Amino acid sequence: MNESHSDIERFKDDDMGYSDWTRRHWYTGYVLHRASRKEFTLHMAGCDHIYGDVDSQWRMTHAEKICSASDTALKRLVRSEGGKPPVGCSSCGTSA
Ligand SMILES: [Zn+2]
Repeated sequence: MNESHSDIERFKDDDMGYSDWTRRHWYTGYVLHRASRKEFTLHMAGCDHIYGDVDSQWRMTHAEKICSASDTALKRLVRSEGGKPPVGCSSCGTSA
């Protein structure tokens, strides 16, 4: 399963890297928001729930964001880390 992990990018305390990634994958990318060690929510990259307020001091990646163009790869990663199945977002229409 190494090939599916190759296109996953993780951002922790790296708002600039994260915002650059979401800009490039706005309509096509998926973002896992790490709510706790084993709890995740799944969003589209352009979801305003996770993008945050650009004018304020950015703390978007204080909770880890795990990004990929493949939601399947993200769900597999959650399983491999022993997490619960990610919760979908009603705002951007993802489903777990
Ligand atoms: Zn969302």
